[in-house]
Formats: sequence, C-alpha cells, structure tokens
Amino acid sequence: MRLRSTICALATPPGEGGIAVVRLSGPDAYAIGAKVFVPIHKGKSVLNARGYTALFGHYLLDGQEMDETVALFYRAPHSYTGEDVIELSVHGGSAMADGLQQALIAAGAVPAAPGEFTRRALENGRMSLTQAEAVMEIISAGSRQGAALAKRALDGRLAREAEGIRKTLQSLAAHLTAWIDYPEEDVPELAPAELKETLQQQKTLLDGWVDSYNAGAVLRHGVDCVLLGRPNVGKSTLLNLLAGFDRAIVTPVAGTTRDVVEQAVQLGEIRLNLFDTAGVRGEEEADAIEAEGIRRSWKKLEEAGLVLAVFDAGAPVTDADIEIARRCEGRPALAIFNKQDLAADGSQFDESLLTPYFRNVIRLCARDADSLAPLTRAVAALLGTAKLDPNAAGLINQRQLAAATAARDAVGEAIAAVDAGFGLDAAGVCIEDALRALADLTGEDATEAVIDEVFSTFCVGK
Ligand code: GDP
Repeated sequence: MRLRSTICALATPPGEGGIAVVRLSGPDAYAIGAKVFVPIHKGKSVLNARGYTALFGHYLLDGQEMDETVALFYRAPHSYTGEDVIELSVHGGSAMADGLQQALIAAGAVPAAPGEFTRRALENGRMSLTQAEAVMEIISAGSRQGAALAKRALDGRLAREAEGIRKTLQSLAAHLTAWIDYPEEDVPELAPAELKETLQQQKTLLDGWVDSYNAGAVLRHGVDCVLLGRPNVGKSTLLNLLAGFDRAIVTPVAGTTRDVVEQAVQLGEIRLNLFDTAGVRGEEEADAIEAEGIRRSWKKLEEAGLVLAVFDAGAPVTDADIEIARRCEGRPALAIFNKQDLAADGSQFDESLLTPYFRNVIRLCARDADSLAPLTRAVAALLGTAKLDPNAAGLINQRQLAAATAARDAVGEAIAAVDAGFGLDAAGVCIEDALRALADLTGEDATEAVIDEVFSTFCVGK
C-alpha cells in the first residue's frame, strides 16, 4: 500500500469528450499541483487555495504552457478520499489529459491503482466497505433505477441497519455470556420466549435483504431472458411487441428463426437481455441446424434469469409443449398462452396440461400492442421487482449476499436451538457466528485479501 504517496489518474472515461478530469490526491497534492498548474491571476496561488474553491489557468509540461485548465480544490479531510485533492479539468480527448498526467508524474505523483481513490476513502474512514461497493455499482449500473438502488447503499443505509442488528445480537450475546459464566452474579435469565422473539425480529430483517437481492440485481443489471416455444406459437411476434418494431422476421412458415439472436429491450423498469431461440419442435422433425438451436435453447433455459415460454392457445397442446413446460419447472418462468383471439373459438387447448409447471401464467395476444402492459406487470411480479421497496436497504453484490445469508442462517440456528431446548449456551454460539458474519458484511474486520478482492474490479480513477 502506498498510503503516503500522492496519486493521480484520469477520472473521466478515456476517448473524445467535452472535458477530461484528472484527479490528484495525497499529502503532496498542493505541492505537486503548484508545480504543474499556473493560475491566470497573478495574485492567486495553488498553495494558498482554500477547499471548495476553483481557479482558472493552464498547465505546464516540460516548462511549456499547455491547455487551459480549471482546478478545483479540496482540503483534507473534506474530500472524497479524505486527503488533499485537486481535480484538474482540461479539454476532452486523450492528448491534453495524457500530457497533464505526464506533468503530474514528473512533478512527483504516482499513477493510481484501480479503485485507489475509493480505497483511500475507505482507509481514511470516509466511507464503509459497503459504501465503496455502492460506488462501483453506481458506475456500472445499466439503468437509472439500478443506479438509484446503488445510491441507497451509498447513503449507508445497509451499514446502519447492519449495525442495528449487530448491537441487538451483541447485547443478547453479552447477556447470555454473563448468565452462563457468572452464575453467582444473579444475572436474570433470558426468557426463551423473549430471546426467540428478538432473534426472530433480526432474522426477518436479514430475510428481507436476502430475499430482495435477486430483484435488486435484476433492476441494476437487467436479466438474461430466453424466449422458448414451438415454431409458429408467436415468439417472433412477441419479440416485436417487446422491441417495439419489426425486428425479427415474422412468417407463418415454421422455423425461420434459427439462430440465437441477442438483443436488449426495456420492459418497464427491467432490461431484458433477450436470447431469441430457434423454434423448439419435436426432435424427430428437427433438422441438423435446428437440433443445434434446440440444444442451445435448453442450455439457455437453465442459465436464464427469466424464461418466457410461449404456447399457442389456438391449437391443442403437443408433446413438444409439454417437454418445454416440464423443463421450465422450478425455473423463473412465465407461461404465455398466446393467440387468445383464437382460443375464444373453442380450441382444443388444454391449459391444465401446462400450468402445473409454472409459477406464473399470462394469457394474451402477442399481435396486440395492448398486451405489453399486462406482460410488463407479469414479469415484474415474477421477478419480485414489483414489490421491491425503493427505500429499504439492499445488498448489492455476491460478497454481501454470502455474508448476509450466513448471518441469517446462524440466527435461524439460534432460534432452532432455543426451540429444541438445547440450552442458552447453544444459542449463544450461533449468535457469535451471526455476529462474525455481520462483521464480514460491513467489512469491519475485513482482511486485506477481502478488500483487495472488492477493489480488483474497480476502474482506475475512481
Ligand atoms: P414463431 O415461429 O414462434 O416466431 O411465431 P411467429 O411470431 O412467426 O408467429 C407465427 C404466426 O402466428 C404468424 O402468422 C403470426 O402473425 C401469428 N400470431 C402471432 N401472435 C398471434 C396472436 O396473438 N393471434 C393470432 N391470431 N395470430 C398470432
């Protein structure tokens, strides 16, 4: 770690753009800044610049006057990293920003490692590990809703709620320890019912986090979605409905959509990463290309976060339909009984052969634009995004999910121990486990290795 060095990096994306911002942070930020940046007003100086002020001027490289530059000043500890920080804005494109970084390095700065600014913020107590992770999520969020969710984590709500749970468990643990270890002290015994109720309240909070994780992830990053169904049931028509224009070729002849096409469409708040699959027909009918398409479809079905299984409600259910339905069992799959206009004519379509395999079912006409709204609602309901509380604390990555799950399970075991009448020391052991998992979650006792892992996916300049 180079905590005492002064680091610099491009904070804006590389490439052409209006402005480029280079950030400088560390104990020598002002000394280095003063060598590189020259204010236009002779009376002004970098060394005397106060925090939260700006100066206009230019920067120097090898003594040459380079681009016009705006310098923004922050004084420790009132900055992102908690150190002295100067942000220098020059014209966009890489030429001027590269020159500026070169000048800063020549003046004594060192190039920042990925995520090093945020890491310093963490190490200087400016943010918690969960907040640092939120920064990364905001940068990578694919949608405004996703960014808003990550922003909540940045507000520190998760860390605060975790702290609340930790305090409650800690006082339970202290009480149990006192009662077990100092019998002569006359510590009042915790009534099992009271203990259990307090544990149950903590478990409910933890359950809420774990259960809403997937829905939150869907909002932040979208969901991989596979569209399945026999030829001619209306998959291409449905895709056009989703995409809002005639993208796939819709034809009454079976099996034109032979390849797996990927496309992202926005369905309400959710981005669907679509895999348009080749028609799934009975194996005996399939030619070689389609067999490959089918194989890929089954694989996608297993990996997808959302399966839209389309059936033709205007025709009898076939063996291929049942095979598709069977494979959807236990998956996040929505059965779409399409062509309801034809179903009305007393078709032979027997829904009951398919519905047992699905969590949710929707009846619609893919040709009808009005079907989009109910389909949007059905998908939101299936993925749990509809009931996601926008103000609740949420977990934002697998590391947090694993720690929260471990804490939740340990509290569950503590409750089971109380229920089974194993004695309070057994519950105490489980509560200690839960406390350790919570410390993992908030990064309180995070080891260097864990922090390295968190920052390994950060971009340089953040
Ligand atoms: P795919 O092979 O599954 O992609 O099916 P297509 O989307 O190509 O649709 C097959 C045929 O069914 C086309 O002629 C569509 O216009 C028609 N179709 C799709 N949806 C509906 C619907 O809701 N009602 C009716 N009557 N026909 C539909």
